[in-house]
Amino acid sequence: MAGRPPEGDPAPPDGRLPDGLAAARQGQPLSLYLHIPWCRSRCGYCDFNTYRLDRRDHDATRPYLAALGRELELAADQLGPRPVVTVYFGGGTPTLLGPADFAWLLTRVSDLFQLDPAAEITTEANPETVALEYLERLRQTGVNRLSLGMQSAVESVLAVLDREHRPGRAVEAVDWARRAGFDSVSLDLIYGTPGESTADWETSLAVGLAAGPDHLSAYALTVEPGTRLAARLGRGELDWPDPDDLADKYLQAEDRLARAGLPWYEISNWARPGAACRHNLAYWRSDDWWGVGAGAHSHVGGLRWWNHRLPRRYNDRLEAGLSPAQAGERLTDEQRRVERIMLDLRLASGLDPVWLTASERGRLGFPLAQGLMEVRPSATAGSRRGTAAEPVSDQVRVDPVVTVDGADRVRPGPVVTVDGSGQPAGPVETSGQSVGGPADPLRLSGRLVLTPAGRLRADGLVRDLLD
Ligand code: SF4
Repeated sequence: MAGRPPEGDPAPPDGRLPDGLAAARQGQPLSLYLHIPWCRSRCGYCDFNTYRLDRRDHDATRPYLAALGRELELAADQLGPRPVVTVYFGGGTPTLLGPADFAWLLTRVSDLFQLDPAAEITTEANPETVALEYLERLRQTGVNRLSLGMQSAVESVLAVLDREHRPGRAVEAVDWARRAGFDSVSLDLIYGTPGESTADWETSLAVGLAAGPDHLSAYALTVEPGTRLAARLGRGELDWPDPDDLADKYLQAEDRLARAGLPWYEISNWARPGAACRHNLAYWRSDDWWGVGAGAHSHVGGLRWWNHRLPRRYNDRLEAGLSPAQAGERLTDEQRRVERIMLDLRLASGLDPVWLTASERGRLGFPLAQGLMEVRPSATAGSRRGTAAEPVSDQVRVDPVVTVDGADRVRPGPVVTVDGSGQPAGPVETSGQSVGGPADPLRLSGRLVLTPAGRLRADGLVRDLLD
């Protein structure tokens, strides 16, 4: 849970959902996120909603755990008996809790909802907080997926990040997780830390892969305002991350991980086939999830809301019989359409062009011609998923985008006419490449998928595509 939430509209104090919403979503799969807001120490780059907890001080955690139980009751009361298909303990460092705490929370979930026997139940873990015996007991509670924050295999890089674990600890933890019987193990890595060389990053990738994870996330370091890292950079003690270095390291990861049998399925996530994180896919596909805990965000059928951030405030509200929600917003159809485009383009499954308006489809010429995006056939090619914001007309004009100005923004190029399936009426020459004509991807008969180069500039690409 990073950063500050948007303003939003005031949330109803009793947590009541709008009339008809729960009924409309009945039977739909539900994901639950439980936020555990403590860490043993704060890492220098982190702006998550977490607080220091010096040791396993259960007296400090009791009121919060009781509040989590109350919010689960509120969720069940509002949503009814929904099938829960994923549960995710995030933080913070959930593994500061004891296995008995996980067992208690999961029992509340199964008492209040229809917990799918095949549900994916993940916890994030700091390698320093787990050991074999702890993981064996954790596995017995029903947690079946472990996501370990490794970040780097290089001591000097971990030191800049203020991570407290030793470089080899995450690898040991993967081995313990296997022996404890976890179905799936994931490692998180960070690249672009000041002072990290290409060889350092190669070492982290190699060590991470050698541990044999099912899933690996690799995130570019982002410098969040107000963190110790930002202060050190501001004082000139460290060099700012270099965009070219970050891009090279992303491509290095893509190459290394794909060759190791972990293809990408989301811009920052790679997994062996069948091991994609179902919980995170629920976010990216805009399914329903209820975020339980201080600062947690929720989404049900286009309604989004977020909780008060401070654990004390969160506890007090639930103890007083009030909803912990601070504010929320109802997404318009247009906001949902734009989100669909942004999120689907982050995924290897890609975007069905039916979500694009005619003028947006017209701008596809540039990313396709530049090799930033490609059209992949799919089982659902030609099908209409959900309701398109704008139907494909019989005759639409498409403006292939062919040039880039100094600010790296696309400009509209010549106009061609396409038929109702999006097929251009004739070829258009752009920078020596043909975009248009019988073999042209503007036929829109598949899904639009970003190439590695396209993923590097996904945000700008989406910005330039949208009306
Ligand atoms: S362990 Fe994770 S959540 Fe805790 S301070 Fe470090 S980065 Fe933030």
